[in-house]
Amino acid sequence: MKSNQFDAIVVGSGISGGWAAKELCEKGLKTLVLERGRQVEHLKDYPTMTSPAWEMPHRNQRTLADRQANPIANRCYAYQEDTAHFFVKDSEHPYIQSKPFDWIRGYQVGGKSLIWARQTQRWSRYDFEGPARDGFAVDWPIRYEDIAPWYSHVERFVGISGSYEGLDTLPDGEFLPAWEMNCVEKEIQKRILDAYGDRRFIIGRCAHLTEPQAQHLAQGRGKCMARNQCYRGCPFGGYFSSNSSTLPTAALTGNLTLRPDSVVHSLIWDEEKGKATGVRVVDRLTKEAKEYFAPLIFLNAACLNTNLILLNSTSRRFPEGMGNEHGILGKYIAFHNYRGSLSAGFEGFEDKTYFGRRPTAVMLPNFRNVKRQETDFLRGYMSFYTAGRAGWGSQRDMPLGADFKEANSELGPWSVYMMMQGETIPKESNRVSLSPDRKDEWGVPLLDIQVGYDDNDEKLLQDFLQQGEEMLTKAGCTRIRKSDSGQAPGLDIHEMGGVRMGRDPQTSLLNGYNQMHYAPNVFVTDGAAMTSTGTQNPSITYMALTARAVDYAVKELKKGNIS
Ligand SMILES: Cc1cc2nc3c(=O)[nH]c(=O)nc-3n(C[C@H](O)[C@H](O)[C@H](O)COP(=O)(O)OP(=O)(O)OC[C@H]3O[C@@H](n4cnc5c(N)ncnc54)[C@H](O)[C@@H]3O)c2cc1C
Repeated sequence: MKSNQFDAIVVGSGISGGWAAKELCEKGLKTLVLERGRQVEHLKDYPTMTSPAWEMPHRNQRTLADRQANPIANRCYAYQEDTAHFFVKDSEHPYIQSKPFDWIRGYQVGGKSLIWARQTQRWSRYDFEGPARDGFAVDWPIRYEDIAPWYSHVERFVGISGSYEGLDTLPDGEFLPAWEMNCVEKEIQKRILDAYGDRRFIIGRCAHLTEPQAQHLAQGRGKCMARNQCYRGCPFGGYFSSNSSTLPTAALTGNLTLRPDSVVHSLIWDEEKGKATGVRVVDRLTKEAKEYFAPLIFLNAACLNTNLILLNSTSRRFPEGMGNEHGILGKYIAFHNYRGSLSAGFEGFEDKTYFGRRPTAVMLPNFRNVKRQETDFLRGYMSFYTAGRAGWGSQRDMPLGADFKEANSELGPWSVYMMMQGETIPKESNRVSLSPDRKDEWGVPLLDIQVGYDDNDEKLLQDFLQQGEEMLTKAGCTRIRKSDSGQAPGLDIHEMGGVRMGRDPQTSLLNGYNQMHYAPNVFVTDGAAMTSTGTQNPSITYMALTARAVDYAVKELKKGNIS
């Protein structure tokens, strides 16, 4: 028992779990991090980080055999020969798609922090106020002011590059120097601003060290070299991952115990004590069952797995899953609508080039229904664009040998790509549940995902395509083509909800500090906690919520309110 007892347990070592571990360890708690996947040590376990494509068996292409074996993972743009080892293989981790849903996962120490695209925008007051104003989901129990200092706390440590713009729809943060737009992006930005007056595209905010500060160097990280091969693991620690940043910092305190290969099956509810006391684990390799105990439990297994673990944590007190007093666990799942994109040409600037592979795009904060309801659909979307010249980085279609070098020295025309990131409305019918009869290799019931689009999503998509075409036309683009990918939910990899925060225990599972209303020593601080989705990339908000929740939880523990 003694060796299985800790001050805190964190389930999952990805973006949010890494933050929980760092904050808990720094506050002096002996912390156990349970991670279902294998160990991935920074640098040592990045086998392709410096490999050129010609050293890879298939020149960094996906093979037909792999596409057939892993159709879901293959739909993710970041899944290639150089990154495949950081993605879950479809056949090893089955789930049930009652509706089509591409569940993209990274089961290893570091989770998806190794393979994320690192875009990091704060939410604004309009995002937190949205559900109450527009009458959907439930009111967020917090507002922008509650989380703003925690965004700052996280941004300083992570290292976020960005420009100061003073926009109330996308608040500024603690930024390292911004990446630069190229000449065509600047021209398009100017023409769109001139045409609309209030549509200001800005350079994307992202978790890259453009100018490392002392605390980043202390983490052993260095400057981003604009290679844009981040998904392989970065030899410089130029982008933020749990492996390069939070986990090593937690380990330095001497308070961290990290156990890879530990599949958390469920939480333990002690009927006599009337509280959650620990977790049940199945060893990934030996299948041995183990139990670990702590007065404080943080769930950070990523949105849908956190839902799964709670649904599977049944007891006499909670027969439908831990904390699920009112039957809403697993419901009100939402995601981001990524279906719309546009491509176009751009004439001129043929004598201009740009340097490096910038790891971010140009972005426009949502301009739809921000301050009042203006359209026949709810909420809005963020828009992104990039402009680039053909010839660089498009080796795929080029000849080999001398012709290859020749072709690479000639730059082609400019082209522009624009895409959307739309808010979706959490609904009771978008839900997950457990299969009554099918289990995985570790004896855990399979997750049944029932999440789909609705009319609001269709209208929002059409609006983006119409507005995108109009903006690109006003910007002087040519050959504009609109596209609806028709992709299933999930491929956005921004699934949220199911264990939502709220003010009322009858309609939510967590309070304003991510603490379960009915299991107060359990905290959920990954995407499962999200009441609504906003239009921003979500992970920086998970990190800020996590740091804030740890601060609260440890104070409560010290006061004796959690034991
Ligand atoms: C290609 C790609 C691009 C992305 N781009 C962006 C972006 O630009 N910006 C952004 O904000 N977000 C982006 N995301 C999403 C981002 O990766 C996630 O939001 C983020 O990783 C979520 O953090 P998390 O801690 O909840 O989950 P994860 O980082 O996935 O970590 C969860 C961990 O829990 C472990 N785990 C799961 N189940 C169990 C269990 N039963 N027992 C023990 N351990 C378990 C997993 O193995 C994993 O290590 C992207 C994701 C991908 C794949």
